[in-house]
Amino acid sequence: MDPNFLQTPISYLKGVGPNRAETLKSELGIETYKDLLHLFPNRYLDRTTYYTINQLQPSGADVQVIGKIIHIKTVEQKRGKRLVATFVDETGEMELVWFRGQKWIRENLKLNEPYVVFGRVSRYGSTFSMPHPDMELLKEHQAGLKIAMQPIYPSTEKLGSKGITNRVIGKMMQQLFLESKGIFPESLSKTIIDELRLISKNEALFNIHFPKSQNLLAKARFRLKFEELFYVQLQLISKKLLRKQKIKGLPFEQVGEKFNIFFEKHLPFELTTAQKRVIKEIRSDLGSNAQMNRLLQGDVGSGKTIVALMCMLLAIDNGFQACLMAPTEILANQHYNGLKQLLGHMEVKIALLTGSTKKSERTLLHNQLENGNLNILVGTHAVLEDKVRFKNLGLAIVDEQHRFGVAQRSKLWHKNEIPPHVLVMTATPIPRTLAMSLYGDLDISVIDELPPGRKPVKTVHRFDSNRLKVFRFIKDEIKKGRQVYIVYPLIQESEALDFKDLMDGYESIVRDFPMPDYQISIVHGKMKPVDKDYEMERFVKGETQIMVATTVIEVGVNVPNASVMIIESAERFGLSQLHQLRGRVGRGAQQSFCILMTSGKLSEDAKTRLQTMVRTNDGFEIAEVDLKLRGPGDLMGTQQSGLLHLKIADIVKDNQILKTARYHAILLLKEDPKLQKEENIPILIAYTKMMKSKVLWGYIS
Ligand code: ADP
Ligand code: MG
Repeated sequence: MDPNFLQTPISYLKGVGPNRAETLKSELGIETYKDLLHLFPNRYLDRTTYYTINQLQPSGADVQVIGKIIHIKTVEQKRGKRLVATFVDETGEMELVWFRGQKWIRENLKLNEPYVVFGRVSRYGSTFSMPHPDMELLKEHQAGLKIAMQPIYPSTEKLGSKGITNRVIGKMMQQLFLESKGIFPESLSKTIIDELRLISKNEALFNIHFPKSQNLLAKARFRLKFEELFYVQLQLISKKLLRKQKIKGLPFEQVGEKFNIFFEKHLPFELTTAQKRVIKEIRSDLGSNAQMNRLLQGDVGSGKTIVALMCMLLAIDNGFQACLMAPTEILANQHYNGLKQLLGHMEVKIALLTGSTKKSERTLLHNQLENGNLNILVGTHAVLEDKVRFKNLGLAIVDEQHRFGVAQRSKLWHKNEIPPHVLVMTATPIPRTLAMSLYGDLDISVIDELPPGRKPVKTVHRFDSNRLKVFRFIKDEIKKGRQVYIVYPLIQESEALDFKDLMDGYESIVRDFPMPDYQISIVHGKMKPVDKDYEMERFVKGETQIMVATTVIEVGVNVPNASVMIIESAERFGLSQLHQLRGRVGRGAQQSFCILMTSGKLSEDAKTRLQTMVRTNDGFEIAEVDLKLRGPGDLMGTQQSGLLHLKIADIVKDNQILKTARYHAILLLKEDPKLQKEENIPILIAYTKMMKSKVLWGYIS
């Protein structure tokens, strides 16, 4: 076959022409033979049985009937026109109906000729009606390829109205296979094909479009999914290898004085096994001469901060500076104070830089950074500004990474000639294999263990109608000396309404919890940072017992004495957000509670979310449910990752195949890093082509 055959513009295909080519391009992104070949069916229909009209049932299933059109009319209605054809066989009559694309259909339908129609029927009175049937002249149907499973291709309204029906696409596909003789270049090596017992590329492509049997269809799908995921993994892994070879890292050769002093004298508790393991992993990265780019996953409260601090001490011990970035001012503040406290009177210079740092302080800070007097800088996005220059930044840590974009992260790289080591910390648990794909060339560490002695938070769901009881419970807890969060949703689309809810809620809480017995803080996004900090501070110090807030407190805030988290309109929060919020309590020794308040009307998904929260505290389990409910599209990071643009595989449902693909990609690159072996040539060719045509996506800067 001509190697460029698949690059042929689609308009060259018999039966396509410039008009259809235009529509195929705008609607489905199909420009070449290859694009068409990779338009995979969404589903398949069983076309082995034929029904007569008197056998029809309003079952909702798709059926196939042979008959003739004896009459066509346009029916005018208030809601618009529809085209109705009377379709008969020897047992009775039914209607075929079109709401769209009527002109084309009217001009092209033939009266009194036998057709095979296929579609879903519904019954109106005693008449069956089939809207937008898939139809084919009987003689063509008989002459066409005999396939048991009828593929259903992705479609759009415009495609339909331009006459590019599913059947027409099927025809094009037949034509494509006719011209190519069904022979396409193999793109996997014999080793992989043999080991996984895959069917050949030719067989797979044929059976995905014209399945000969259920069994072959399943094999075709497996092979094509594997191949797709394999190439994504191949790209990710080779990128990572490349980075490790090319990008020199700053050498952190020694574990020095500060690290040791801290470990021996200042560590307020024994590290968990998981924390120790992670510190070891990071240390080995820092000691190698490649740049570290690592993701640290650990559920809320698992103790990531101390890990961050110890790594920063390693940097300092090796003569470098370190910075820690947080997504919000509150959190940056808290990190700053927390680190200062942990460091005690150790000789480490640490400073805070946020949007509200005063100009005079800023200038001083800039100087100290540049002359190296400052060891650790804690801050918000402000750290990324160009004016902020370090003498020798060795380690950059980003907390709660989903708030930061990829572009922002890459900015960190450019603060030095040699990029600093980067550690990204996230509390959003993502199943491990998925994380490896989503975050591409990051290495991953997981803290999968909570510090000892934590009592799991007790979670309950209460309806708004039980509010009085809930308030009584809050009063009891406050009497015991505890503090309480009450959180309201704040979703951008309905900001004004949400804000009103928050204020109404606040007022009613002030009424139910009167001063001077009760002191209440409020924090929301419309407040000035200084006011926010002031209110937050009062709560942290225990001067107020109740904190009314929007989700600004979602990330990171640490008040161990707070034992109750009330989430208002909990049905409106996503699972990961609920889990994050719940993580604000249960940080002290006492039993903590999370109360999910909702109205009486709940969608099925909302019920599942609430039940999941009540059932488990395990972040990974919650992440799995979340993924099933929402799909990967909403997962942090997926937007940029390109994994949403997969044609046939699904990173969630096909997780098992993903693992296999990853394993084989790693193995291949280990044994033949440059893909030079004879038998890997098919892979090299396919890979090079994909990289050129940008089929594979760039992941990280
Ligand atoms: P996160 O991972 O959510 O950032 P933090 O670092 O804020 O968690 O830690 C949560 C709490 O647990 C803090 O009060 C911290 O001091 C405490 N902590 C962390 N590690 C341990 C440990 N190994 N033993 C006991 N307490 C710990
Ligand atoms: Mg944290």
